[in-house]
Amino acid sequence: MSNSGSEIDRLIQLLARLPGLGPRSARRAALHLIERKDQLLGPLAAAMRDAFDHVVACETCGNIDTASPCHLCTDPRRDPSVIVVVETVGDLWALERAQATSGRYHVLGGTLSPLDGVGPDDLSIPKLLERAGDPAVKEIILAVNATVEGQTTAHYITDMLAGGEVKVSRLAHGVPVGGELDYLDDGTLAAAIRQRQPF
Ligand code: ZN
Repeated sequence: MSNSGSEIDRLIQLLARLPGLGPRSARRAALHLIERKDQLLGPLAAAMRDAFDHVVACETCGNIDTASPCHLCTDPRRDPSVIVVVETVGDLWALERAQATSGRYHVLGGTLSPLDGVGPDDLSIPKLLERAGDPAVKEIILAVNATVEGQTTAHYITDMLAGGEVKVSRLAHGVPVGGELDYLDDGTLAAAIRQRQPF
């Protein structure tokens, strides 16, 4: 396939598995890294090693950090009465980038999908219901994607919380149907949280 050494082929093959990188851009990225061995390849290798050694999932919210509970769960400036529920860590990071909320988060780890055999126990829904039972929690904001699976998941969680003390709301209609949070601009995301509606 190529006339370069096996270590380089391996690097290209691994880079090609990254989202947004096909074989061609993986070759360009590998060459770029190798040509900047000291300035880029070395620091990147060290940073990857550090991330591999230290990154953990937060036992409370499911965020990815170097500590568990994560820095968002332990930050005293964040409002413990609000939990913003997201599908993925990428969605959490998008909301943080947009500074859309001062509440805390809960990462589901996906959406309910009966056809694929994904049920509530495969997601962190039991943990969410446990957190929602804390008297300090007053509101759950369902910041799930506007897809069929996202909305099915939102309805399920709302049903499970019905009759309790906690208020359940969802994002405003600024989120396009079928839209994924990570692709929204920061202003739209922040507005969708501000203008949230009772579920
Ligand atoms: Zn956390």
